[in-house]
Amino acid sequence: MISISKPILGHEEEQAVLRVLRSGKLTQGEVVRQFEEEFATYVGTKHAIAASNGTTALHLSLLAAGIGPGDEVITTAFTFIASANAILYTGAKPVFVDIEEDTFNINPDLIEKKITPKTKAIMPVDLYGLPANMKAIAKIAREHKLSVIEDACQAHGATINNKKTGSYGLAGCFSFYATKNMTTGEGGMVTTNNSQFAEKIRLLRSHGMKKRYYHDYLGYNFRMTEMEAAMGIEQLKKLEVFNSKRIANAGYLTKKLHGIPGIITPTVPSGYRHVFHQYTIKITPEFGSTREDLMKTLEKDRVDALIYYPLPVHKQAVYKKIYSGDRLPVTEKISSQVLSLPIHPGVERKDLERIAELIRGAKPHPTNNK
Ligand SMILES: *Cc1c(COP(=O)(O)O)cnc(C)c1O
Repeated sequence: MISISKPILGHEEEQAVLRVLRSGKLTQGEVVRQFEEEFATYVGTKHAIAASNGTTALHLSLLAAGIGPGDEVITTAFTFIASANAILYTGAKPVFVDIEEDTFNINPDLIEKKITPKTKAIMPVDLYGLPANMKAIAKIAREHKLSVIEDACQAHGATINNKKTGSYGLAGCFSFYATKNMTTGEGGMVTTNNSQFAEKIRLLRSHGMKKRYYHDYLGYNFRMTEMEAAMGIEQLKKLEVFNSKRIANAGYLTKKLHGIPGIITPTVPSGYRHVFHQYTIKITPEFGSTREDLMKTLEKDRVDALIYYPLPVHKQAVYKKIYSGDRLPVTEKISSQVLSLPIHPGVERKDLERIAELIRGAKPHPTNNK
């Protein structure tokens, strides 16, 4: 089976976790501190604060930005549901803006129309590992005095003109879930250049406790363990190698899929570094066979292809009751066209060749295969 994702763990992670287990210090210690410092250095921010997962990293960031009931946060509906859920947890309302056809990310040109006196923040998502248009978003945020909380949970190490995701807004939020470009099993991180905001997140992460057993705020237990941080330190050392392999695999697959009518390979705008958390093609009617049929063909040959995401957030049962906004025509069209193919660092050239051949062969009419 060529799986859609696979954590790559070695002797280094094993040894690092063992050292923590043998030390007897399992939480809130030096290893989490070290992981935070190294992650901040990697992203290029002053601070990084570890959390229990990507969802709690987003939740903490929204809370520390002062977002709560009555507020609105602008985001995309074409994402994993956690982005919008984090907004709901605070009591605020997610306001969905449609996406761009080619990047799948929030369309900056449509944001201003959705800004109201209740809007407090914009939460762009760097979907599939491609940064959202952070420059345009930051400009809108500055003009309207809004916070930017970037959901970079799929984009560790992605850049725009060499500036990393997670370093653009008030906060960048990362996930280290098992399928992400680097993993700690479960885990998350907030990056920021704002010292006061960082301090607030540290408090909220641990029951609002500044002095032992004195609680200034209603906080949570959203902490990371030392075992997770130990894995994270080792995974971070390997992230560049992992990302380079993903990028090389993506480039190779794009070459192999070239010229198949109805198959549209991923776009990478100039100056952007896409780290291909997912390699996602669009299948248009020109292909001559449906996405679902293609998935069956791939599945039969033990290739794991998946749809991220078949149902946009505003159409989810949980959201239908509360969401009364406009339709999102591009989001809705794209969610019916996308299919993600395996390109993780464990996928080999011969696998990619097989995937491309299967897709080419799935076409009922002859191709201009050269
Ligand atoms: C994975 C992910 C999250 C949530 O991260 P968890 O660690 O699973 O809580 C949030 N947003 C996006 C876009 C994600 O891909």
